[in-house]
This record gives sequence, C-alpha cells and structure tokens, in this order.
Amino acid sequence: MIIVMRAGSGDAELDEVTALIASLKLTAHVSRGAERTIVGVIGAPADKETLLAQFAGLDGVESVVPISRSFKLVSREARPERTVVRLSERVAFGGETLVVCAGPCSVESREQLETTAAAVARAGATVLRGGAFKPRTSPYAFQGLGEDGLKYLRDAADRSGLGVVTEVLDVRDVELVSRYADVLQIGARNMQNFTLLREVGAAPRPVLLKRGIAATIDEWLMAAEYVYVAGNHEIVLCERGIRSYDSQTRNLLDLSAVPVVQALTHLPVIVDPSHGTGVRALVAPMSLAAVAAGADGLIVEVHPNPAAAFSDGPQSLTPANFDELMARLRPVAAAVGRVLPEPAAAAR
Ligand code: PEP
Ligand code: MN
Repeated sequence: MIIVMRAGSGDAELDEVTALIASLKLTAHVSRGAERTIVGVIGAPADKETLLAQFAGLDGVESVVPISRSFKLVSREARPERTVVRLSERVAFGGETLVVCAGPCSVESREQLETTAAAVARAGATVLRGGAFKPRTSPYAFQGLGEDGLKYLRDAADRSGLGVVTEVLDVRDVELVSRYADVLQIGARNMQNFTLLREVGAAPRPVLLKRGIAATIDEWLMAAEYVYVAGNHEIVLCERGIRSYDSQTRNLLDLSAVPVVQALTHLPVIVDPSHGTGVRALVAPMSLAAVAAGADGLIVEVHPNPAAAFSDGPQSLTPANFDELMARLRPVAAAVGRVLPEPAAAAR
C-alpha cells in the first residue's frame, strides 16, 4: 500500500501516518521527494479495506493506493501520470521532445571531448555522455581518467550547451561525480549494487538506471524502487540489451521492454542501441525502432575516430554517421508524436 501525502503537508501529519502504521505492526518506508512525500506500507494487513479508509481519513493524506506488486513507488498505480525528469528549460526526459545523449564510450582527452560535444550538439543532441570511471571486464583495460575526465566532460558540455551524463561506479565517488554531472549513470553491471543504489538515491542528481546484463524487467524496476524509496524520484530507465546466446550482436536489444515498462511504471525510459547491438551498422536501425516503439530518448556512442577509441570503437558512430542518424530520426519521431530538438537551437 502507498500513502501519498498532500503537497505542503508537514511533519505532524506524517508522524500521525507513521504512528498508525507502527501501531498495526506494519513497516513504513518514507520517501521524501522534492515535490511530495510518499509512504510505502510493507506487510500484510488483516483487513485491507478498513485500513485504506483509516489512512485516507488522516490529515495530510492525498491518496491511498493498494499495490500488490513488489515494486510500489515506481509503479503506474502509485502515480498514473508520467514522470518527467527535467534537466533544464529545454531538456526533459519523458516530455514531448526526445532527449538524445551522445558522446564517446570513454573520456580520453580534452580535445576528443571538445570535438565530439560540438559535433553532437550541432546535430541536435542535448546531453553529452562519456565515461570517466569505466567498468571494464579486464583489470588491464583502460579504467578511465577519473576526475580529469569529469572536468573535460563538464567544460566541453558547457561550451556546447549540453547536459552531462556519466557513470558512477562506486559509492565513494557519488559526491565527486555529482559535482560535475547532471545525471548519474548506474551501469548494467551495477544495477543490483544495492549500496550504490541507496547512495545515488540520496544524491541531488537524476539517475540513469541501465538494465542489468541478465536482469528481468521486475528486477530492473526493483532496482529503481531502491533509488526511489531512498528519496530520489528523478529516475530514467535505460534498456541497453541483455545477454543472449547469439554472437552476431553483443547483446540482445529488448525493445519490447520499452512498452512493457511504460505500462508498469511512470518513469521515463530511453534506449542504448550502441551497447544493445555492439555493431556500428545496427545503431541507426535500432535507434529508429526504439523511437518508433515509444522510447523517451536515446544514448548513443559517438567518437571522432572510432578506430582509435580506447573502448567500444566497433559500436561507435562517427560524427557524420550521427548527423545522418538524427536526420533520419526526425520523421520517425514525428510519426509517433514526438520531436527532436532543432540542431540550430542545440548548438547555442
Ligand atoms: C557505458 O554506457 O559506457 C556502459 C559501460 O554501459 P553499460 O553499463 O550498459 O555496459
Ligand atoms: Mn561503451
């Protein structure tokens, strides 16, 4: 059961609610968001109907929603209207205008970032991506530039009028990454790092939560629930492919996940066709398909010279490939009632 407190209600009303929950030997999970406070009630009450009426009658309670699913606060039942995660006046995940995040897999140098940021902004991207902390399968592979990389990202993004999304790998870096990034990315490998989820749940930045390599949709939404219940209600989901038995693609991009999660949750969802396929030639067709399927945006790897990339060169688009992709996306977006930012506006 979810109790939604009225906007403007205070501690006294909340105390009354939690006291009633405690007296019934149930557990309260209080989630204080920027806009409103939500209380999750965990446990099996004997008489649900009476209880619903009891809570609904308390001062400061806006609504009481019975939810039997394992994920509660992120469920559609808890919030029938869609969540919009706004970064700025013109960038909002879940709005009519799609958000395209683009940039290299890894931050490699200041020059690489400046060139890429200018190019993707000109094409209509509104958020710059790039990893300063890289989760690599091999401990001998390039691990990222750390704080220097964050600085290059922020500077290049500011010069081109872009937001920044970058991965935070470790609870010890949440504060540092929050100083430079507009969105904290939780990578596929960390989707069930519950300590990290709680930590970003307390951070003052929206979270981009990638689907785990072998995660079911329920597990993915439960991961989002961790962030939400910790108080951060600004979560964007990202489908990035799941492991399959076929070696033609790096992962199996599950585009059916887009309408499935949109039916289950109020959170926006974007698609990563780069990690989802691992193959440059497949990035454009799957981007078009993702937008056609209703995705709220894309996150795409773009590198000025993919052949020389420190990581994920084979799936990275060149700036020219990215220009072409954005041009092809426009009519598809229009066909499903969405728009892409005008390139000129993006290159402020
Ligand atoms: C990335 O975006 O660079 C990345 C490592 O993604 P994922 O966690 O989806 O593998
Ligand atoms: Mn990558």
